[in-house]
Amino acid sequence: MAEAKKSLNFIEQIIEEDLVKDYTKDDLKFRFPPEPNGYLHIGHASSICLNFGLGERYNAPVNLRFDDTNPTKEEQEYVDAIKEDIKWLGFKWAEECYASDYFQKLYDWAVDMIKNGDAYVDSQTSEEIAEQKGTPTQPGKESPYRNRSVEENLELFEQMKNGETPERGHVLRAKIDMASPNMLMRDPVMYRCLHKKHHRTGDEWKIYPMYDWAHGQSDFIEHVSHSFCTLEFLPHRELYNWFLEKVSKPGDFEPKQREFARRNLSHTIVSKRKLLQLVEKGFVDSWDDPRMPTISGLRRRGYTPESIRKFADSIGVGKRENLIDVAHLEFCVREDLNKKAPRVMGVLDPVKLVITNYPEGEEEWLEAENNPEDEAAGSRQIPFSRELYIEREDFKESANRKFFRLTLGKEVRLKNAYIIKGEDVVKDADGNITEIHVTYDPKSKSGSGTEESLRKVKGTLHWVSVKHAVEAEVRLYDRLFTEETPDGVKDKDYLEFVNPESLKVVTGYLEPGLKDAKIQDKVQFQRIGYFCVDKDSTLEKLVFNRTVSLRDSWAKISN
Ligand code: ATP
Ligand code: MG
Repeated sequence: MAEAKKSLNFIEQIIEEDLVKDYTKDDLKFRFPPEPNGYLHIGHASSICLNFGLGERYNAPVNLRFDDTNPTKEEQEYVDAIKEDIKWLGFKWAEECYASDYFQKLYDWAVDMIKNGDAYVDSQTSEEIAEQKGTPTQPGKESPYRNRSVEENLELFEQMKNGETPERGHVLRAKIDMASPNMLMRDPVMYRCLHKKHHRTGDEWKIYPMYDWAHGQSDFIEHVSHSFCTLEFLPHRELYNWFLEKVSKPGDFEPKQREFARRNLSHTIVSKRKLLQLVEKGFVDSWDDPRMPTISGLRRRGYTPESIRKFADSIGVGKRENLIDVAHLEFCVREDLNKKAPRVMGVLDPVKLVITNYPEGEEEWLEAENNPEDEAAGSRQIPFSRELYIEREDFKESANRKFFRLTLGKEVRLKNAYIIKGEDVVKDADGNITEIHVTYDPKSKSGSGTEESLRKVKGTLHWVSVKHAVEAEVRLYDRLFTEETPDGVKDKDYLEFVNPESLKVVTGYLEPGLKDAKIQDKVQFQRIGYFCVDKDSTLEKLVFNRTVSLRDSWAKISN
């Protein structure tokens, strides 16, 4: 085969081993199991790419399963956003499943467990139950309710189900072993009373299953072969298997829980709960604020699905947790947009440049290549005239030899146009430069092939014709947190590290073709960075987001 053989990662090795021992290829099935209590973030992208990537690799179905067992935090809005994000990333799930669809089945199994003496109703408070848990080195204490009769348990559980028990009244616990070295096996709670409306089941249920009781059973019902979760669930595996043993019969198909390391990204937070705080406390505008590490925030910021998939694939799956530098994510989007984004000119901090020997009132349209990385992208015409905007930082009255931009008495090229020479400046009463006067060499037009046009000059500047420029609001985003691991600093709250300069809004002057730009259009403002039209953009007012600068400005600071 022409395809280069990639070495297997440890997850694929696990699957290959299982294909020898326990499963056939047709048995393979995966799932991605988000809880709809927030928007998906870049950490979830790793899990999505892992599960759906395995689906593609093994030609196996992947379910999207909403782990919707806690109505206090879950909402339909989140379900919808999660589906949109996965689709946008380019993946298709086999079935859309909900743990809540299994509530009846789970309840029936729980009743069976009570009948078999494997579960009991505990009437203690959660504090009392916690006190009896023991420590990793000390066994726990058995609940005084542990040996209730089957009849009494059934009756109480029925009352719980009917909503006759107040919230926090009773819980149903699995009867396992209060002395187990694995604390999770010390009679874990299976159900609690919650009289909350569920976004799908409404008021039907007054009891809700805990994660451990719902997750493995959902895998079992759906015939998932490999249930991949993050490492903190490793100690849950024993319980996962214990529950499966209770609900299955010999010969039944049994799913396997396997673990991989959570992915963390520097200078941000990957926790829905903490991201919700940023929204609720007004540090950002919404879940899809372009500063958010959510998939929807990244999309709005101008990230492409390909760049996020590339990011996830390139960091791969690991056995140990580590911190990925956000610079790597930025690298991935830069690399993708370099190939795709048309080049345009825009000036974000303008100063006026007057070409004193260019005829007043005249204009000409110059040919400009759309993307040197993509021949098929073609070219466009851009207007040139006597008055232009250039970037204020591209001019200094006098500068040392390392300054390859415009100074008085020196030549630079205007991109796609002519060579100009700095002649003079006009200043206001405070000494601020209001105009730069230059002369141009009419024979030096880019691409004209003349000797003058081929002459080497040190710098090339971008520019926009004043008369033709379109104004736009340009949102310059920076990292949301100043600290590398905002939620990992001892005795400090992550909210203390929110970067006060994570958003700067300026007015940009853009080449006129951009007035027709559509929401989500992506371009490179030459010499500045990649930008994308924001959804706040209207016909009257264009709004651009900076996706990423051309170079990593933070790297420069630390050098
Ligand atoms: P959060 O704390 O943000 O809510 P979670 O793990 O509780 O994260 P879930 O909705 O339960 O969120 O996650 C769905 C799947 O995504 C799970 O399999 C989970 O292990 C995985 N996942 C979540 N965060 C990460 C991460 N940072 N890296 C890799 N996988 C992750
Ligand atoms: Mg969770």
